[in-house]
Amino acid sequence: MPSSPLDVIGDDDDFVHLDYAASAPCVRAAADAVAGLLPRYGSVHRGTGVRSQTSTLAYELARDVVAEFAGARSGDTVIFTRNTTDALNLLARALPPGTTTVQFDGEHHANLLPWPNPLRLPVPSAPCSPDDLVIALKTALDGLTGPVVFTVTGAGNVTGEVWPVRELADVAHSYGARVIVDAAQLAPHVPVDLDDLGADYLAFSGHKLYAPFGAGVLVGRSDWLDVAEPYLAGGGASAAVGDRPGDLTWATGAARHEGGTPNLLGAVALAAVCEALTGAGRAALHEHEQRLLTRLRDGLAGVPGAVEVSLFGPDHPRVGIVSLALPGHDPAEVARRLGREHGIGVRAGQFCAHPLVRRLTGTDRTGTCGDGGPGLLRISLGVGSTGEDVDRAVTALAAVLGTVR
Ligand code: PLP
Repeated sequence: MPSSPLDVIGDDDDFVHLDYAASAPCVRAAADAVAGLLPRYGSVHRGTGVRSQTSTLAYELARDVVAEFAGARSGDTVIFTRNTTDALNLLARALPPGTTTVQFDGEHHANLLPWPNPLRLPVPSAPCSPDDLVIALKTALDGLTGPVVFTVTGAGNVTGEVWPVRELADVAHSYGARVIVDAAQLAPHVPVDLDDLGADYLAFSGHKLYAPFGAGVLVGRSDWLDVAEPYLAGGGASAAVGDRPGDLTWATGAARHEGGTPNLLGAVALAAVCEALTGAGRAALHEHEQRLLTRLRDGLAGVPGAVEVSLFGPDHPRVGIVSLALPGHDPAEVARRLGREHGIGVRAGQFCAHPLVRRLTGTDRTGTCGDGGPGLLRISLGVGSTGEDVDRAVTALAAVLGTVR
């Protein structure tokens, strides 16, 4: 078969990776981009030699590619960060003093914990509807004064469900609030576009998008970012430094928040995958993944003792992520046995979304989560997943649940 930029590198027939939601394997496009630069890179923005010039060009080109991938508008800033957590923390520090940050408590901790002055809304009882969220958000925003931001995930990392971001963004905007979308789990699966989502800011991670670790991105409106204290003070973030402490001029634009030598290889790998995903046709990739997801969910529905959890109900759109309550079993032990005995990599636990997982595993929702400890078992798909992988996981889970206590 001809190779494709989205081929997973180093794939091993004996091992099935179904933990894309945590970190996706690296694809050829990213590996090739890194390999192409390794023999000739130098420091970005810092030299006149050919290596430095090439690197600066590659870095700024990567920024342009990511800007297009995210639907950045003129005037938006594209800042390379370490990952989504870093991007959201950066933005949290750039908010004007006194900003109220509103979010539902079903968020990943990365989108729950960085915010100053948070107004945290409990997600309505499952199954809830987009309208329930809209009503809860309206109630929360009513009467708030001063700058307000609403921050929301594009797709949940526990259930994979796609959140009604556009509806919620429209509500937030009607109250004059700005909207931040955590696209860590959305961007790998569907196109992300700031305008389509109704987002003022978007953040995602390279390592969930088939690039190696260490690069993420924050894209969005530049005005607050342009006047905020630099995220990291140091070289690159400073335009001019005088003799006395405090006698300095900070850089403008993305450089203001990219202090230190930038992660060129990470940025270039991330951009290469953005291009590869777009080039492969995101609609076709999504369709393929949805077929696998249906096969997985149908298979799991026939496994006694595995109960799929959802916030919005089983028919709500979701990306390739399924979490299961395993009443009477310890999800961590089941995950260990899937790995050890069947070569299948999944994840068990609370997935850095403790409030949500507590709700989803509460006795009022899914029955007890069992003797075996808290949490869920999560299976997640990506571009390297196949029907065979899915069938193997279903069969293995049935085998393990038949024997493990
Ligand atoms: N947001 C969501 C929805 C996630 O699933 C994750 C990671 O799992 C994050 C944010 C944090 O991503 P990172 O660890 O790459 O910063």
